[in-house]
Amino acid sequence: MRLILLGPPGAGKGTQSARLEEKYGIPQLSTGEMLRAAVKAGTPVGLQAKVVMDSGGLVSDEIVVGIIEARVEEPDCAKGFILDGFPRTVEQAKALDDMLKRHHKELDAVIELVVDDQFLLSRIEGRARDTVAAGGTVRADDNPESFKKRLAQYHELTAPVSHYYASVGELRTVDGMAPIDDVSSAIDKVLIG
Ligand code: AMP
Repeated sequence: MRLILLGPPGAGKGTQSARLEEKYGIPQLSTGEMLRAAVKAGTPVGLQAKVVMDSGGLVSDEIVVGIIEARVEEPDCAKGFILDGFPRTVEQAKALDDMLKRHHKELDAVIELVVDDQFLLSRIEGRARDTVAAGGTVRADDNPESFKKRLAQYHELTAPVSHYYASVGELRTVDGMAPIDDVSSAIDKVLIG
């Protein structure tokens, strides 16, 4: 099963991907996580990505498409994968189409978690408070200023990705403001019909 989860930052894509991963035995491919790992490891890609990520910007299409193309060829993706945080621009969506076509593969579903901005801002503030209370460190790009930038960027660059999949008849939407279990059930309904 090959899935894309779309939605703004903080919409719950990571949480739902983790559940789908367990349920269907397919890996969650989060470009954000892969980039953070590259930053931590100090690889050339990581060094290039760090400055952009800390400021809440978008890493170049070339870098993320390259990362995904290499990753989907790994053996654990043979049964499928869940894309989380990719594609983030229409160019990335088109690059993904080309990539899948070259490998004679198709997407099974594109699901968007729909959440409004005010709800997201409250959620992200809560997430930061909980992390600090638990003695953790808040992600540099989860501070309110960077978060607002990521959100604005989402509306400008990533919302068109939803329109792109809607125009080809592949987009399904789910209310991302519902309780976590309800969101999971709604996703299951989309997947099993
Ligand atoms: P995320 O964990 O998905 O919120 O991603 C964290 C950061 O990584 C984003 O704010 C971007 O700077 C970068 N990033 C992740 N995925 C992509 C992507 N598909 N295209 C460009 N930049 C990305």
